[in-house]
Amino acid sequence: MDPILERFHALEEKVLSYNPSADIKRLSAAFQYADEAHAQQKRKDGSPYITHPLAVAEILADLDMDTDSLIAAMLHDCIEDTGATYEDIARQFGATVADLVEGVTKLTRMQYTSKEEEQMENLRKMFMAMAKDVRVILIKLCDRLHNMRTLMYKSERKQKEKALETMEIYAPIAHRLGMQRLKWELEDLSLQYLDPVGYKEITDELATRSSAHQEFMASIQEKITQRLAEDGIQAKVYGRMKHIYSIYRKMYAQNKTLDEIFDLYAFRVIVDDIPACYNVLGCIHDMYKPVLGRFKDYIGTPKPNGYQSLHTTVIGREGIPFEVQIRTFDMHQTAEYGVAAHWKYKQGMANTRLGSESTYEWIRKLLESQQDADAEEFVRTMKVDMFADEVFVFTPNGDVKSLPAGATPIDFAYSVHSAVGNQMTGAKVNGRLVPFDSVLQSGDIVEIITSKSAHGPSRDWMKICKSNEARNKIRQWFKKREENIATGRAAFENELRHLGLNLAAVVSSPDALGQVLKRMRFGTLEEMYAAIGYGGLSAQKVANRVKEELTRMGREEQRSQIVERVATSLAPDKTPARPRHSQSGIVVEGLDNCLVKFSRCCTPVPGDPVVGFITRGYGVSVHRADCPNADPARRKPEEAGRWVNVSWVESDQERYRTALEISAKDRDGLALDVAMALSAQKVRVSNLSARSQPDGFALVTLILEVKDREELNAVMNRLGQIQGVFLVNRAKG
Ligand code: MN
Repeated sequence: MDPILERFHALEEKVLSYNPSADIKRLSAAFQYADEAHAQQKRKDGSPYITHPLAVAEILADLDMDTDSLIAAMLHDCIEDTGATYEDIARQFGATVADLVEGVTKLTRMQYTSKEEEQMENLRKMFMAMAKDVRVILIKLCDRLHNMRTLMYKSERKQKEKALETMEIYAPIAHRLGMQRLKWELEDLSLQYLDPVGYKEITDELATRSSAHQEFMASIQEKITQRLAEDGIQAKVYGRMKHIYSIYRKMYAQNKTLDEIFDLYAFRVIVDDIPACYNVLGCIHDMYKPVLGRFKDYIGTPKPNGYQSLHTTVIGREGIPFEVQIRTFDMHQTAEYGVAAHWKYKQGMANTRLGSESTYEWIRKLLESQQDADAEEFVRTMKVDMFADEVFVFTPNGDVKSLPAGATPIDFAYSVHSAVGNQMTGAKVNGRLVPFDSVLQSGDIVEIITSKSAHGPSRDWMKICKSNEARNKIRQWFKKREENIATGRAAFENELRHLGLNLAAVVSSPDALGQVLKRMRFGTLEEMYAAIGYGGLSAQKVANRVKEELTRMGREEQRSQIVERVATSLAPDKTPARPRHSQSGIVVEGLDNCLVKFSRCCTPVPGDPVVGFITRGYGVSVHRADCPNADPARRKPEEAGRWVNVSWVESDQERYRTALEISAKDRDGLALDVAMALSAQKVRVSNLSARSQPDGFALVTLILEVKDREELNAVMNRLGQIQGVFLVNRAKG
């Protein structure tokens, strides 16, 4: 008979032995289907391809797995390697099997490259998250185990690659799922390729001691068996060597020789119930001297993956230490097969307790729900979504990010870096542009498009994102932005003042500022303030630009003004103004005896360069030449003809009102010192008020009367010498 067919029949028998009601017909159909589908393919060693899926099914049968898993194992490479589709498989073998095959295919397509620890952890989680049905992982692990067993046929580079991947991804997953036997074999196979020399050193040394080892283990096994029988405890005792990779780790990581490894030998005592476990422990400690600090009660406190046992290390009369693990039959099943143990045809987990704080709560829930549940129900509950509240997505570089379920590109962007989120202008998922609120799926490759000129997040993003991290970073951005706007505005105002411009005035005549904003690509004034405050833009530069713009606009207005005057035959008066006595101390060019008042915005005093504006019905208003309200750049074109030259003359008026602003560090007695200084200068003050600022500074404003600019300068100098005062300014308009 065909040896492959023979192997399949052996498999059939094995399945029937642990599951007499198994649907062998479907299994047989799957075998034939796969055999035909892979007919043209060969394994690297030259054998027909079907030997691989058959072997995977055999390994699963060793775990006493259910028929659907075996069928899926048989078909697991069909979608990937042959023309078969999901629909084909679903039609013939049902949706469950098709789902399993598709799940395995998905995991097969995943690419892993060696990464740092945290990255590996994410990959492992993602691996598990992508398989909604745990059986998918079991099939994948068995698939990998068979490929590792036959790795000698691959190229050396492929060997190293697969071995590393197995060590970093598959063995830890087997560990997580509590499948110790599978894990050990995967690790030993990987080590063989990753460090052939180290591997050989250990196996050689173990081989030379082999007969001594056998003898030692046999004697201990016999002694324990005998003693337990005397005490009336029903137990099975097994001895074994530690697996090679764990010896390797101890020898190299802890720098020990083979003789120094405590638990090179391990014995297992398997009993019926938990009280018997503790009885056995008592006997062992009576027979041998326990090593201090090596006793562990994993029955009282199970490991996160559900593992339960009592561990102790003792020293025999020969002086050789060895470990004893004591557990019930149920615990043993869980320890050896992990999750897979739960598919076993005959269960008996009623006595099993698992830690409720376990990370793998789902295993515990599973075990609970599984009591009294029929097989069908059990398989359904096993389809747990292990990471229902997480998705795992890739960066374009292949890094994995773990995000909450429902996460969007915004969450992703902020998980990479706040700057990426803040500068995000678009997002691509698997190469396609998507809206910001699209929901990411495990396995998606996400790429964020950023721009340095992006205007930052919008407040809506806080509603769209799912992670607290993103929400906090967006909130932070807005908070920072408020601060930036405030500092930016202050810096801009200061620079304008240096240029003799006033912020309020610049802002209230938006033409020039609007031009500047437009040219610098700012949508709003706030954006510009924020950019200055953030330090990305020089306030001086913007202020200069505003000034240039004002000048440019001013020149244009002057031109149109001349044109207008010619047109209305109102030629400007060329006669120079004759200085004459005036009541106000001001003469207006071309106008005699007109009403003159001093503007309240800049309160000019004699000596200040001044300019006049013919108001409608209130005479001529006199401004300082550097008053923002008199700035040629800001004058309205239709009023161009109203601006007139004025100058100071000797006058009857003795004193002029003007306003000052004093900036100082806030302190007690500041206003008093100012008042004292003014009275010492014999200056008449009509108003003085001091206001504390929230930032610890104070602003003192005062209105005083002086004879002229000279006197004013002297007063300002004196005020500047008061302790804590750092700025004395003419009041702005
Ligand atoms: Mn395969």
